[in-house]
Amino acid sequence: MTGQNKTGPIEATIAAAALFAQRGWVPATSGNFSVRTGMNRMAITASGRDKGALTAADFIAVDITVELGTTPPGVSAEAPLHAALYARDGAVGAVFHVHSPAATLASQARLANGHIAFEGYEMLKALAGIATHETRVALPVFANDQDIPALAARLMPMLPDGPGQVGYLLAGHGLYAWGRDPAEARRHVEAIDFLLTCELEKERLAR
Ligand SMILES: [Zn+2]
Repeated sequence: MTGQNKTGPIEATIAAAALFAQRGWVPATSGNFSVRTGMNRMAITASGRDKGALTAADFIAVDITVELGTTPPGVSAEAPLHAALYARDGAVGAVFHVHSPAATLASQARLANGHIAFEGYEMLKALAGIATHETRVALPVFANDQDIPALAARLMPMLPDGPGQVGYLLAGHGLYAWGRDPAEARRHVEAIDFLLTCELEKERLAR
């Protein structure tokens, strides 16, 4: 497939995962990363790998039409959540998932609310479709579930469309964010984690 510049999508994903690992967002082999490799194909990280030391050999090719409801051997258990996002929107080119402290804590605190609203932040402009800080983006928060295929089927109809809608939280678990390519998915993870960190700190300051 055509990569941007000289870096292919797998290499860009490996670099993003290494950065996230340095920041403590994918501890203890948590998190998973995928890129679209065709209309109905994705390459996703194998389960149990150190996301700070990925190589191209750690990615497994998966048919999203076949694997929407199942998890092939060796593939990340959360593969159906990735497959569902590619199936839902043909423009999605990469899906990144992290277990950052900010995503884990903020999602637990706001599960009852159903979303976390970001308003007035310059950083909102890092989200696709947002051109000004004078806006409000509600990041959805859903309950976690160990039945991943059922979770994927339940979540997709609940995901809102619109400017800045490029991710969601699973309560006490972490953040899913996506983009048209790995660079955009990386930017979205970084921006949303920054916004979550700001919201958590704002609550602390208000006490
Ligand atoms: Zn996870």
